[in-house]
Amino acid sequence: ALSRVTRAPADKILGLTEKFNVDRHPNKINLTVGIYKDNRGRVTTFPSVASAQSLLETSLDLNNDLSYLPITGSQDYQNNVLNFLYRESSDGSELLENNRITFVQTLSGTGALAVASKLLATFVSKTVWIPNPSWANHSNVFQWNGFNQIKYYTYYEDGKLSIDKWLKELKESCSSRDPDWPPSIVLHACCHNPTGVDPTLEQWQQILPVIHDLGITPIIDMAYQGMESGNLIQDAYLLRMCLEYEWPNGLFVCQSFAKNMGLYGERVGSLSVVVPPNPLDLKSTIDSQLKKIVRGIYSSPPGYGSRVANLVLSNPKLKQQWFVDVKNMSDRLWNVRIQMHERLNWPNLVDFKTQHGMFYYTGLNPYQVQILQERYGIYLTEDGRMSLSGVNDGNIDYLCDSLRQVVQ
Ligand code: PMP
Repeated sequence: ALSRVTRAPADKILGLTEKFNVDRHPNKINLTVGIYKDNRGRVTTFPSVASAQSLLETSLDLNNDLSYLPITGSQDYQNNVLNFLYRESSDGSELLENNRITFVQTLSGTGALAVASKLLATFVSKTVWIPNPSWANHSNVFQWNGFNQIKYYTYYEDGKLSIDKWLKELKESCSSRDPDWPPSIVLHACCHNPTGVDPTLEQWQQILPVIHDLGITPIIDMAYQGMESGNLIQDAYLLRMCLEYEWPNGLFVCQSFAKNMGLYGERVGSLSVVVPPNPLDLKSTIDSQLKKIVRGIYSSPPGYGSRVANLVLSNPKLKQQWFVDVKNMSDRLWNVRIQMHERLNWPNLVDFKTQHGMFYYTGLNPYQVQILQERYGIYLTEDGRMSLSGVNDGNIDYLCDSLRQVVQ
């Protein structure tokens, strides 16, 4: 009966913005959501994206078709994104030529994770490993889409990556795993959310063989490509490294243009699965199930955002501008990080040099986060994560003064 419906807790991140919006503090600052804002606090449209939009507006050819897209998205989008991910960001041309990569145009990164988990939990895997800490929605997505068991591997402790514990936990737990339902694992491709700390290339070289040898299926969550180094291609290192292995249950790549094209609300992303070479019809079998999953949830993806992304990815001038746009965004975030570092001088609280991307993981405890919110109108997520994009010349002094007060 309807009376069985119990109240779900407010979303840990988006719920805070609802609260922020009605807060009357005169100096309030929202540092919760990962949306890029410029130094004046505005959500801007990247020049590359704005140019693509005006091209679309003026070209009837490009924008006159409001009919449905195919279930797994437009063919142009598929070609452009696969080309970007597997020819430019990595050396997967041979996989493409051998028809080993299935593709779905998804509702951004979250949609990719949802479709991937539905397929995995139905046919492959009942347990998924998620880093602790991780983006709060991961466990929600995996639970809703059929995983019976969510396990957390220790990722970050005492202000740094804890690779030894991470690998020990995987090894211990997987020694008794069910061979019919081998586990999956979520790996953040770069700019780990919320800590901003990623394994180095050398550490990944230690981690990936363990995951591979234990028969765990990797799910790469690539939501921030370009925001670690400022270079889109460079940041795809985890994808490149994973492609050096054959994964018997596939390599799942969940990718988003929300942050690196600023297309948040347009929901533009992709799921690609690199499938083993045999049997030959495996790819088309998986394609058929992916179609069925999408059809049963939202039938087909939205069109407009993917047309914008298509233009940015396929027009050489716009593409070049996009790389500059991403670099500018990443430079500003880095600049904010340095400026805060200089003002706060908190060497013991966090290691500034190893964090990167959109978030600053402050190390503040929930009580301090609460005081910041109640007394100063400054909103961080409960785990002490701060989105640097909300910091600008107009509020950085107030922010750093307030942080100093609560830490005292
Ligand atoms: N994964 C991670 C780690 C994220 O931080 C986000 C966005 N906050 C996403 C996936 C998905 O974002 P979107 O659905 O907007 O692409």
